[in-house]
Amino acid sequence: MSEARISLKSKKDRSLERRHPWVFSGAIKAIEGFPEDGDVVSVHANKGRFLGRGLFSSQGSISVRVLTFEDEPVDTELFVSRIRKAAETRRTIGLPDAGQTEIYRLLHAEGDGMPGCIVDVYGDTAVFQAHDIGVHRMKETIASAIIEASNGSIQRVYDRSADTLPKAFSEGLERGYIVGDGESSGVFLEHGHRFHVDWGAGQKTGFFIDQRENRLALSRLSKGKRVLNTFCYTGGFSVYALAAGASVVHSLDSSQKALDLAEENVRLNGFDNERHKCIKADAVEYVRNLEESYDIIVLDPPAFAKGMRSRHNAIQGYKRLNGHAIRQLKPGGILMTYSCSQVVTPAIFRDTIVAAAIHQGREVKILEQLHQPGDHPISIFHPEGEYLKGLVLQVY
Ligand code: SAH
Repeated sequence: MSEARISLKSKKDRSLERRHPWVFSGAIKAIEGFPEDGDVVSVHANKGRFLGRGLFSSQGSISVRVLTFEDEPVDTELFVSRIRKAAETRRTIGLPDAGQTEIYRLLHAEGDGMPGCIVDVYGDTAVFQAHDIGVHRMKETIASAIIEASNGSIQRVYDRSADTLPKAFSEGLERGYIVGDGESSGVFLEHGHRFHVDWGAGQKTGFFIDQRENRLALSRLSKGKRVLNTFCYTGGFSVYALAAGASVVHSLDSSQKALDLAEENVRLNGFDNERHKCIKADAVEYVRNLEESYDIIVLDPPAFAKGMRSRHNAIQGYKRLNGHAIRQLKPGGILMTYSCSQVVTPAIFRDTIVAAAIHQGREVKILEQLHQPGDHPISIFHPEGEYLKGLVLQVY
């Protein structure tokens, strides 16, 4: 079947000209042919000029995710070259790092020229997560490209797309190996610390890899300190704080499963429970009514906003949560606070903290501004790829 051809309305070619990879449904003037979800289509300007080639979707507002701006086929060769380039980027920043870090993100969607495609690596296993039907249809091709590009370091590819694809498509979709087989969990190193990762059952692909460098930022502050790690999930921040000599670390989450994982990871790293305690609670309520005294509070909530429509409420949520923490800290105390909502920009997040500080009548200094690490790159043409931001604040 021949490739469908999509023409854009006049002036709607501009964002593609700037290599932004999304075609919104409202920009389309005409579709020649009958593309199905996931089919490769070509995209053209109003007057017919070729703009790019990508994957079609009738679900949601993005109709095409462009994979190439050259007039070239979307095939195995293209994926291998993208994945090779992505692997080179990781090598540039020292990933993987034998004996230190074997957990990293190999493919960060638009940031690596692979819209809709996330791949996280745990040792010799790559965990594939498609956010686009076309990407999922190409999973066999992508999986063999991952293996080929890894020069033997990746042996298995696991599909974790069942909960990230549109409902209509993902029904009946199973999690499981595309290449290789065996267990779907294991113990892996991050900056020399051991973590049990379960990519079969855990949240996302099993671990929040994007906080790797920010956990180091916490360890620099933790010696001899009392630390509260809220929204702890696998206890990443807790392990680093304990390793750095924190006197007390409390890991808080509303999910017992998360707390079990945190406890297991604390134990895996040889720390006893004398310095560490798990707390099952709602983080907002716990911080609001804080009875214990902490030197450092970490706030790493899940995304409060999934899109523009929920942004306002999300901002109010961040203001409340951070306001409680700012109010509770003793003079000199540290607040390490994050937002992973993509629609809440670093400037908005910072303004929200300003509003919380004014409301609480406290003086607050920014010591560090944190963000996502280099294995979560941002295409300069796709600023939406910037999602994680954090602030290290000292409160007086
Ligand atoms: N800080 C973690 C990642 C956080 S993921 C890391 O470094 O890996 C978000 C976590 O927040 C999840 O484990 C989820 O169970 C927890 N959570 C969500 N809502 C919560 C709430 N209201 N109170 C406490 N924990 C909550």
